[in-house]
Amino acid sequence: MGGEKSKVETIKEQSGFLRGTIRETLGQDTDHFSNEDYQVLKFHGIYQQNDRDLKRQLKRQKEKRYIFMIRSKVPAGRLTAEQYLVHDWLADRYANGTLRITTRQDFQLHGVLKSGLEPTLRAINRALVTTLGACGDLERNVVSCPAPAPGGLRDELARHARRISDHLLPRTRAYHEIWLDGEKVHTTQQDIEPLYGPGYMPRKFKTGIGLPGDNCVDIFTHDIGLLAFAEGNRLHGFNVLAGGGMGMTHGKEETYPRLASPLAFVPAGEILPVVEAILTIQRDHGNRADRKTARLKYLLDAWGFPRFREEVERRAGRKLAAPLALPIQDVHDHLGWSEEGGGRWYVGTPVENGRIKDESGPRLKGALREVIGRYRPSVRLTPLQSILLCGIGEGDRAGVEAILRDHGVPSPGEISPARRWAMACPALPTCGLALTEAERVMPDLVKRLEDELHSIGLGNERIVVHMTGCPNGCARPYSSEVGVVGRTADTYNIYLGGGFEGTRLNHLYAEKVALDEIVPALSPLLAGYATNRRPGERFGDFCHRLGMENLRRMSGAYRMTGVGC
Ligand code: SF4
Repeated sequence: MGGEKSKVETIKEQSGFLRGTIRETLGQDTDHFSNEDYQVLKFHGIYQQNDRDLKRQLKRQKEKRYIFMIRSKVPAGRLTAEQYLVHDWLADRYANGTLRITTRQDFQLHGVLKSGLEPTLRAINRALVTTLGACGDLERNVVSCPAPAPGGLRDELARHARRISDHLLPRTRAYHEIWLDGEKVHTTQQDIEPLYGPGYMPRKFKTGIGLPGDNCVDIFTHDIGLLAFAEGNRLHGFNVLAGGGMGMTHGKEETYPRLASPLAFVPAGEILPVVEAILTIQRDHGNRADRKTARLKYLLDAWGFPRFREEVERRAGRKLAAPLALPIQDVHDHLGWSEEGGGRWYVGTPVENGRIKDESGPRLKGALREVIGRYRPSVRLTPLQSILLCGIGEGDRAGVEAILRDHGVPSPGEISPARRWAMACPALPTCGLALTEAERVMPDLVKRLEDELHSIGLGNERIVVHMTGCPNGCARPYSSEVGVVGRTADTYNIYLGGGFEGTRLNHLYAEKVALDEIVPALSPLLAGYATNRRPGERFGDFCHRLGMENLRRMSGAYRMTGVGC
């Protein structure tokens, strides 16, 4: 895929293996970095941002105020109690007092000032967590089903996630020089990036590991999905899926969300060379001219599967077996109490939109700090943005429950299914790409949806709504039953008909719908679903069966404008 390289490519190549002028700028009396360093900082797990709530006001005063987001990379979402508590402390000391769990099982700190970057990164690394590669054009955090279970299968999957993550980490010394050692090494000759080279990847690259019986990692949305084939607790290998990705751009038909396609079955012990082969194909042939069409999915569609597969075989040095039939059967959110074996328990606690805070409503942050400080459970972040506290003894369960209750944290049974399964990206005010609100308006949107569902007797129905402030799709809106995606400054596109289990993309149902009109737009369809659904049929399947044109007809009084498929 040819054409002149994009500006970002030049910045990467001239950055001296991710140094840029970050170190020098840290020593200057400014509150931000240059545009070039802004690109390089992402590889260090840092986003330079504006508080967009303040932006208009400050513009009048001809002033800008910069803040930073720091993302910790947590393979398989696994943290020790100590690592959790360090992030909790940093959120209060240097960030805006909140922690955010991402859909890739990372932790984010928001609202950090430039002066807080070094101490924050040092503390995170002292706790043996890194932010290197959490953002930027390289392998991102490797996700894996977080739930503990007797027999050790999920532990084995987590070990694969860690191994892949470690293998695909960049080797530059820049990160240590800038944030940890504090000294600049004046030559870059010693840096070798055997895997990535100076240009790293054309775009971000994502890998997920999942199970057919529990697609909590949304296995089809990754560049590489590894779907485990196990008998009992014995892992035999993985169906390798390739070419998933959610992002698209409004009005650009050449961009689109895509679910990963099954490529091959690979024994567990041989998986690393195959993953590396796929990654290096994308490294060498991904589009470096246009970042909007730079993900693996576009390369795969341009090449076709036979050519792609042949090249994977050549690079991996082995023939690939055909993928096995491994149908996805279910998705679990892992909330509530479950036995994990050895007389131990874990409790999954819902975190609305992944935001751990004490500001309003339940004091979740304080509750988690107290439980984790007192009982020292291991901690797991889920791809559905919730948190699991693991390894809790039978005798401690009542104490944990009392702390959660005393802080007003609802149990999963006290939350409606619609709220339990809803997800939203951060969007405004921090994300520079956001067209609309998402996280901040989602609780109210869900409340209206809950009322609607309750009024037609569907209050206990699991309907999955994912919302994002732009079409980049960070909260995976296109693989959900209902996707709500920011379209213009105050309108959204609505997508319907995705599979509950994440096995089918949804379709555009309505364009440019105002926030207040979203639930009214869904209302006649939900009523139609309540009366016309087949036994056991989910809302996404119902919408898919009827098709968008029939759904629009069903919506009757609610007339859409500008609707297109
Ligand atoms: Fe920002 Fe868009 Fe991602 Fe939301 S989906 S966090 S608005 S880039």
